[in-house]
Amino acid sequence: MRRPRFTHSSAILARPAHVYLLHFPNGKHYIGATTQALDRRLKQHNIGVGSKYCKRMLRLSGPAVIAIAVAYPTMADALVAEWQAKRNSWLLRRHCPICYPKPNGNQNTP
Ligand SMILES: [Zn+2]
Repeated sequence: MRRPRFTHSSAILARPAHVYLLHFPNGKHYIGATTQALDRRLKQHNIGVGSKYCKRMLRLSGPAVIAIAVAYPTMADALVAEWQAKRNSWLLRRHCPICYPKPNGNQNTP
């Protein structure tokens, strides 16, 4: 199996991180990983910096929202999870709470 190639410094790879699913108004999605605060990262996406794909979607569709965010102890863990999610992206998309709202309003109560 191929492994993801990390271009980040070891200092960044050791930091806590999030993997997130962005949902665009036109129903497109973007999977990313970041060590930054999620609201700060979302702002970057929504002013067209940080990702070429998101810049294009911003122009075509409008600002994204964070549909899913999962915390990982390190960026190295997050990048592996991001890589796996991108390989099987239908998995994450299928779980987008905006595209597939749950009848109970996405509450985690049983
Ligand atoms: Zn969605």
